Amino acid sequence: MTEAGNSGEIRVPMPGTGIIITYASQCERDRSERFARARQQLAERAGVAPSWEALTSAEHEDATLEARNWLRAGVAAGLITPCPVHAGAGQEG
Ligand SMILES: [Zn+2]
Repeated sequence: MTEAGNSGEIRVPMPGTGIIITYASQCERDRSERFARARQQLAERAGVAPSWEALTSAEHEDATLEARNWLRAGVAAGLITPCPVHAGAGQEG
């Protein structure tokens, strides 16, 4: 589903569409997914959403893309610390 390696752009097909989503690096992809999972878990605990595991792969990609955008915004606003290992390689990763 994703290419290996922490440097270099990652291209992920959005299930059921012809759209390709790009991540600055595997690191940004991983951080985006962690961010999306954490949000889903909070909503699940609040009783307003199903678990991450209950979502479809398309829903995972939608949520991860949204998280990527918020992650980039959070880093740009100084609210989220960039990855100390990969900072400077791409917008986030
Ligand atoms: Zn990193």
